[in-house]
Amino acid sequence: MSTGSDGRPRPSTPSEASQRSSDRLPKTADFIVLGAGVMGASIAFHLARRNAGRIAVLDKDHAGSGGSGRSSALVRMHYSFPPEVQLALVSLKIFQHWRDIVGVPGEFRKTGFVRIVHPGESEALKQNVAMQTNLGANVHLIDRHQLKQLEPDWQVDEVDLAAYEPDSGYGDGNVVANDFLTRARDLGATYLSKTCATSFLIEAGRIRGVQTDHGELHAPVVIVATGPWTRPLFLSTGFDPPIESELHQVAILKNAPTMKPGAACIDSVTATYFRSDASDKFLVGDFYGKRPIDPDNFPQRPSETDLEEIIERAARRLPKLESAQVMRGVTGVYDVTPDLRPLLGQVPGVEALYLCAGFSGMGFKISPAIGLVMSELILDGKATTVDITPFHPERFQQGHPIKADYEYKDD
Ligand SMILES: Cc1cc2nc3c(=O)[nH]c(=O)nc-3n(C[C@H](O)[C@H](O)[C@H](O)COP(=O)(O)OP(=O)(O)OC[C@H]3O[C@@H](n4cnc5c(N)ncnc54)[C@H](O)[C@@H]3O)c2cc1C
Repeated sequence: MSTGSDGRPRPSTPSEASQRSSDRLPKTADFIVLGAGVMGASIAFHLARRNAGRIAVLDKDHAGSGGSGRSSALVRMHYSFPPEVQLALVSLKIFQHWRDIVGVPGEFRKTGFVRIVHPGESEALKQNVAMQTNLGANVHLIDRHQLKQLEPDWQVDEVDLAAYEPDSGYGDGNVVANDFLTRARDLGATYLSKTCATSFLIEAGRIRGVQTDHGELHAPVVIVATGPWTRPLFLSTGFDPPIESELHQVAILKNAPTMKPGAACIDSVTATYFRSDASDKFLVGDFYGKRPIDPDNFPQRPSETDLEEIIERAARRLPKLESAQVMRGVTGVYDVTPDLRPLLGQVPGVEALYLCAGFSGMGFKISPAIGLVMSELILDGKATTVDITPFHPERFQQGHPIKADYEYKDD
């Protein structure tokens, strides 16, 4: 039995069960993918789907054991930078058609999603909703009265405008990582759990493979999807990806007697996000994180005081939370870049070494599309489904961090 991100037991599929015993370390592969979180697994799936060649996925622990398995897994289209919206839209289609594409039922739950911004940011909200609509998102501006009709339990007195996405919801990071990986293995990929890449093998400015704690593995292409563990791996390459680790905390509550599952929400006013969790539980997450933090050694549970404080803030929006019973807390580590956007693309100075990390709190919902665009970049030389060139890994060194036209203060 495996567990979902909320700790709920989930029956193993036959191929999931076989996945626990990992394959033997081969000597060579055509592609090495480091990390079996939602990103590494998605990349392996999309490469395998195109019959790209021999794919080896390595994880120092096991699939979903990083941020993916602890993710709150909200799925929404609301972003201020157009390529992020496009990545979210492509991913939503994959979540919605999981069985056809990945071959198993999936865990996407459509609840609807509401974005509430600070009262002074309504103009930015309008502009962003217009941009998202132009890109094909199903999103509407709603006023305080419409929001109250939609969610009668919410306290909305100070809300001027909100954005509502009826098709959005949430998923499960463990399920997505394991489903993608299982399908990639069905299509021929090799998976090595408990296998840590310790350094890159580089000759004449070109990647040749990786050194692991079980020996060398040679391949002409290496893709690094190692989340918060990424920076130290690059020490010997001359390129320093500016990724910092940040602790985030989440509370899981049992619904108060009259609480009903409602829309998921990101709420700048209370600096929290929340969503239902199955039919009888509720999840509340905090905007604020703590740095620095060691991704190999961080508190596994939030303190009572921190949990109370997070719930108290969310209860300003949803007063019924005050009488909900706290079941447990979840902690996890974000891999944060200076502009809170990922580093995607070839690593400067090392041919055929690709980076795919630094997703902060946004990676889950775009992971299906990230695997697709990374596979296009690697196999075709260019990502065509969505242009990902603005995310290139060298943008900070070149003085080009991403800045959207209508960013929120806490984007
Ligand atoms: C508490 C929390 C809440 C979140 N909520 C949301 C949300 O609501 N919506 C959303 O879209 N996103 C959310 N996120 C963000 C999202 O979960 C992450 O962006 C995403 O899971 C990152 O996936 P990843 O595959 O890049 O990294 P990870 O899941 O961290 O995977 C990296 C993998 O690499 C392996 N690894 C590391 N180093 C090595 C090495 N040297 N050799 C081999 N393997 C290695 C690790 O063991 C790990 O399995 C949240 C994250 C957290 C922590």
